[in-house]
Amino acid sequence: MSTRVLKIIPADQEYVPSPEQQANAVSVFREMVRYGEIEARVYQDLEFIDAGQYCEAFLCPSCGNRVPFTPFEGTDLAQDWYRDLDQAITARTTPIRQCQTTMPCCGASVALTSLQFDMPAGIARFELCAVDPDIETDVKGGVTTLSAEQLSKLEDALGCKLIQIEARY
Ligand SMILES: [Zn+2]
Repeated sequence: MSTRVLKIIPADQEYVPSPEQQANAVSVFREMVRYGEIEARVYQDLEFIDAGQYCEAFLCPSCGNRVPFTPFEGTDLAQDWYRDLDQAITARTTPIRQCQTTMPCCGASVALTSLQFDMPAGIARFELCAVDPDIETDVKGGVTTLSAEQLSKLEDALGCKLIQIEARY
């Protein structure tokens, strides 16, 4: 069985909440997610926060095209491009904020941090995550993200706008 991870990151890539805000957010989050491991993570530098199996496509910041890279939708070029990008991110030879990539759609060289994601994913220095969360609003089953109201409580605790990423591995 796959593992579900709910990741919550600031909309602002560079934002890192204070230790007090983090501790507060963890306790607020704990009330919403009754079961499942919860963790607040701070990264030294920008980190790519992926959605595991849910990753499908990027939006090119240069030409605006959607660039799918799955075997079902993506061109060979796009699939190769994504594999190289994924390896570069994993190998960490270059910090993410300095990473440039050549887009398979139009050949433009763009900063990795400028890519838009046509999927729930992002770049951040802070992440709040819950592994296999059991969320109280999850009445129908299968819904593993927070309600708008819950998210807004967490936004108050962390002092920033947040993005939810439902990942599966
Ligand atoms: Zn392009």
